[in-house]
Amino acid sequence: MNTQTLRNDLKIDYSGPYMMSINGELVDAEQKFDVFNPATGEVIVGAPEATREQVEAAIAAAKAAQPAWAALTWAKRREYITAYADALDANKENIITLLTIEQGKPRHSMATVEVDYAIYWVREVAKRVLEDEVIEDTPDHIVKVVRTPVGVVGAITPWNFPILLGLWKLAPCLVTGNTLVMKPSPFTPLGTLRFGEIAQKIFPPGVVNIVSGGNEQGVWLTEHPSINKISFTGSTATGKKVMAAASGTLKRVTLELGGKDPAIVLPGADVKTVVPTLFDAAFGNSGQWCIATKRIYVHDSIYDEFLEAFVNLAKTKTVGDGMNPNTDLGPIQNKMQYGKLLNMFEDVRKNGYKVPVGGTIDQSLAGNFVPVTVVDNPPKDSRIVREEPFGPILPLLRWNDVDQVIADANDSDFGLAASVWGPDREAAIAVANRIEAGTVWVNEIHIHGIDIPFGGHKQSGMGVENGREGLEEFTNAKTYMFHK
Ligand code: NAD
Repeated sequence: MNTQTLRNDLKIDYSGPYMMSINGELVDAEQKFDVFNPATGEVIVGAPEATREQVEAAIAAAKAAQPAWAALTWAKRREYITAYADALDANKENIITLLTIEQGKPRHSMATVEVDYAIYWVREVAKRVLEDEVIEDTPDHIVKVVRTPVGVVGAITPWNFPILLGLWKLAPCLVTGNTLVMKPSPFTPLGTLRFGEIAQKIFPPGVVNIVSGGNEQGVWLTEHPSINKISFTGSTATGKKVMAAASGTLKRVTLELGGKDPAIVLPGADVKTVVPTLFDAAFGNSGQWCIATKRIYVHDSIYDEFLEAFVNLAKTKTVGDGMNPNTDLGPIQNKMQYGKLLNMFEDVRKNGYKVPVGGTIDQSLAGNFVPVTVVDNPPKDSRIVREEPFGPILPLLRWNDVDQVIADANDSDFGLAASVWGPDREAAIAVANRIEAGTVWVNEIHIHGIDIPFGGHKQSGMGVENGREGLEEFTNAKTYMFHK
């Protein structure tokens, strides 16, 4: 049995079995696929590979359960979802460990933060209500817009924040009166299967269904006529396929996709505080983050000082197994992504860009470990400046013309988020106003909130999650009017 001693009094068993949730039942599959621990390369367990019939059964169950779920009051749905948040809380230590073991992020930091935050999110979203909007209310006529659930939602999630991004979809989907069929990434299905199992103890059968498998199960969801909306988080390339497939039945889609977030550091910025903040923004979760800072443009007047401080900080960081409390950065989550990084590192090496720290991946290690790597002022058209590496490698770029740096920051098909740093707040805001992105932080970064809409511009996505707008995307507007 795979057990990990966390504290003397707490042993966690993560060996499984892990079951899918279909119509309130825990369901296995004949066929299994291997789930790997990225820190050791070992197989953790086999996860169920849903058959087409099982996916059909999950969709049918969600469809059958939806009218009764939608007929409940918001307050009643809130009760269920709050009870679910309590149940997740009671299983928290187990979920955190599972997250580290299958995803790789350090247990004592990132994994704990992800699970805590996800549970908080479920609890808070449960309190939100979409009130009717009165457009006209005269002595003889009334016009109102009410929000009705879309019906059955298909949710498809990636491997970088599987618990948080899964629960970010589950809670707003349910509170607005929809039912759910979720499919996690084949690289990280276990935590999602576990939170699905917990959901079966709380919700009526068919309200929360979880099916695991490869990409094919995602295609089945996006094409299915009984699914009314797809809430998708993943790469831009897959997002385009999802949108194309959804067009067949005019499904609603929310697409949260890739990013190449720039940070612009203005003259006079406080290097001592900005460097550690941007370091974490770039390298948290080992850079496997849609809103990781992926390019830092530093003004010429402080570039050398900034680079030196950044590199010195990088040298203090430990890359290793996330179960080790001394680990700052865990492994790359899967071999596919590790392979992409090998290719990017090779591109940097063969072009002779300056690499003051990192630069070489030791392929003899059992885990997918990649060193923190900084590239010193590579050309604008280099791959490391233009592509999303999704790993711990980052270009620092020197600038001295504000119009040019804004043009460079905007010269990307992505437009997810950005940040601007400087002592003169008005000057920083003036730059922020000209950045093409769904979120721009000024002298702060990675602030999210239940009531703060989050979504990408350009090819970083379509629609938003969170905020009133995010909730509304799980509904249709229905206008009605009558004479009094
Ligand atoms: P991915 O697109 O490869 O996979 C995402 C999910 O889609 C997985 O569950 C996968 O099985 C499924 N899938 C694959 N092909 C499909 C298809 N044709 N139809 C339906 N589903 C399909 O993405 P990934 O590699 O898991 O995640 C990394 C990417 O996600 C990065 O680009 C990152 O920037 C992005 N991301 C974006 C956000 C955001 O909020 N904007 C958050 C996290 C990650």
